[in-house]
Amino acid sequence: MTPSTTSILWFRRDLRLNDHPALLAAVEHAAHVLPVFVLDPALLAHGSPRTQRLLASLTSLTKDTRGALVIRTGDPVDVIPRLAREVCAGQVHVTRETTPYGRRRDEKVATALAHDGRELVATGTPYAVGPGRILNQSGSPYKVFTPFSKAWHRHGRPAPASRPTRIPWLRADVPGDPLPTVPRMEAGEGAALKRWDAFLRGGLTAYDRERDRPDLDTTSRMSVPLKYGEIHPRTILADLAAHSAGRSQAANTYVTELIWREFYADVLWHEPDSAWHALRPELARLPYDSGAEADRLVDAWREGRTGYPIVDAGMRQLLEEGWMHNRLRMVAASFLTKDLHVWWPVGARHFLDHLVDGDLASNNHGWQWVAGTGTDAAPYFRVFNPVTQGKTFDPDGEYVRRWVPELRHLSGASAHEPWKHDNGYDNGYPRRVVDHDDERRETLTRYEGARRR
Ligand code: FAD
Repeated sequence: MTPSTTSILWFRRDLRLNDHPALLAAVEHAAHVLPVFVLDPALLAHGSPRTQRLLASLTSLTKDTRGALVIRTGDPVDVIPRLAREVCAGQVHVTRETTPYGRRRDEKVATALAHDGRELVATGTPYAVGPGRILNQSGSPYKVFTPFSKAWHRHGRPAPASRPTRIPWLRADVPGDPLPTVPRMEAGEGAALKRWDAFLRGGLTAYDRERDRPDLDTTSRMSVPLKYGEIHPRTILADLAAHSAGRSQAANTYVTELIWREFYADVLWHEPDSAWHALRPELARLPYDSGAEADRLVDAWREGRTGYPIVDAGMRQLLEEGWMHNRLRMVAASFLTKDLHVWWPVGARHFLDHLVDGDLASNNHGWQWVAGTGTDAAPYFRVFNPVTQGKTFDPDGEYVRRWVPELRHLSGASAHEPWKHDNGYDNGYPRRVVDHDDERRETLTRYEGARRR
């Protein structure tokens, strides 16, 4: 095929230049490549941690493309075809989008481009195995993790794509919008590779021993670079296999965690409605609490004032840093859905608004797993006890004291049970908003009832 003069590389969840099949395709099919990012108001919440982090990553990508990246603001369905006309691009290359909104948007963009005789070309996905590819023997998708994980291993995956030796960025005078400035923070492909390399050589060894400990905080924190595509999971998997530690139990555990990310993207691909609706139809009519009293409890949960120290510490860290450890995401989600009996999308929305790594598939299916409406194989009777979870995974109370100053006067694990100490509430820590044992019983009754209906 004769290369047309220009193609567009439309960046989305793939803000990197290494291991980027769509970039390779763009370079192969044109003499010049115009790199573009569209700031889509439908996806950006002004000032949110995720938007701030995205802008920081785009600042880094601007440098990596030596200033060639063009930023445009607006609905991509208008912006991309208009830009393709401006630069006479025959093709617009993208990494295939797998979320419901992204898929709908790309269909519309492809139609608008085709109208003009141009083409949207999708190559690769943000996953090691593209969502939708793994099916069971009867051709249906998996809804439980373990069989999916086995099939994922059997399926195999390609090696990382090599970086083009030369990228002929288009340097014509294509006007773009200025990138809003954001505070300096760790972002971009270089930082992602550095973080990953440090974890591979350091933190990985203890990963399977320590990954559940919010006090130690020794997980990789790769969810943020993965969210923005600053690194591809294929690169991570290849590095794990090549590194001597890649044969360790810790490396196997790490791969399993990455497969959870792939699994949830696959579930969402097959069931786009499961983003906001129960995956298990039998639990769709589970009764939840609403009204003024429920709103009061939700506010206490959001602000870290439930009176359960490990829940409050996690929720306060979320508000402060846009981050929460996986163990605490489970505990906090269980508390909202099973102690406060609040509908899981209320919590999922709050997490998406605050998490820097907020990702529709992992977040909303993480929530559904905890709420019992999703992919958990033993769902509804798993109710996390916030006190035993705290004492087990933050055994010295270090994490709680870090985030809940009102409990700093309590030493060791006693910070998890201020109600057992005469001076427990001396510094204004709130009393428990509900009694966990009572609410656990209530949850089991409600779930049993919903299943029988
Ligand atoms: P590590 O322990 O170092 O794990 C390595 C990678 O594996 C992670 O970066 C992530 O990509 C993947 N991973 C690990 N655990 C999971 C999991 N349970 N599900 C899916 N992928 C996983 N993850 C997000 O990326 N974005 C979210 O919005 C999100 N929301 C969640 C909400 C709830 C209620 C729950 C229970 C989990 C959620 N997770 C989410 C999954 C998990 O909590 C985070 O991926 C993890 O805490 C990120 O920290 P890390 O990178 O240090 O993880």
